[in-house]
Amino acid sequence: MLAWRELRHRYAGGSEIAYADFALPAGRHLLLRGASGSGKSTLLALLAGLLRVQQGELAVADATLNGMSPRALDAWRGATLGVVPQRLHLSEALSVAENLALPALAAGQGADPARAAELLAALDIAELASRRPHQLSVGQAQRVALARALMRRPRLLLADEPSANLDDEHTLRMLALLLDAAEREGCTLVIASHDARVVEALSERADVAEVVL
Ligand code: ADP
Ligand code: MG
Repeated sequence: MLAWRELRHRYAGGSEIAYADFALPAGRHLLLRGASGSGKSTLLALLAGLLRVQQGELAVADATLNGMSPRALDAWRGATLGVVPQRLHLSEALSVAENLALPALAAGQGADPARAAELLAALDIAELASRRPHQLSVGQAQRVALARALMRRPRLLLADEPSANLDDEHTLRMLALLLDAAEREGCTLVIASHDARVVEALSERADVAEVVL
């Protein structure tokens, strides 16, 4: 599902980030941990095909991302990935339901209101469909972002610092939501976090592998 070898990344003018070789065992989710600035978000961007692989090899969900054309990467990303970004990027001009329809519309596909309703119900926020993002609590907005990430039935679900701005209770709830959603949807979950609460909660789980950056 997920493996890299001799993977390195260098931003223009920055120092090089080197990632130790890794392969995710089948059936496991992944926690990427490490201090702020250790390269977690960079690795997520590489996994998502949003940054080009400069050095080394990266295989994600049966695709080798090295050398894939931008167009092929776009198609692959849409069909394979769901992302819950650190900044949620919900459109303020649109309702929750419209935000969920946006990725499919942007990809030139039809909206799928039934799928949106199913996910909102599964995440216990069905009543929020017609709200605007500014009318949501932080925890609710995160659920909406999770629903949006799941709309196109991804094989891989990426979450960058999902506990940012959440108190202890909501942090545990968000982790449970992510893990439950991954289980229900049959996708592999990758969480990047430097939050000790997240590390502690996930370290007890046999189905979560860990990479320390
Ligand atoms: P983390 O998510 O673990 O906090 P990042 O992957 O965001 O770490 O960053 C890793 C390193 O790369 C840091 O030193 C950061 O300053 C640098 N970096 C991240 N994004 C950029 C960028 N767009 N341009 C230049 N340097 C960057
Ligand atoms: Mg980060």
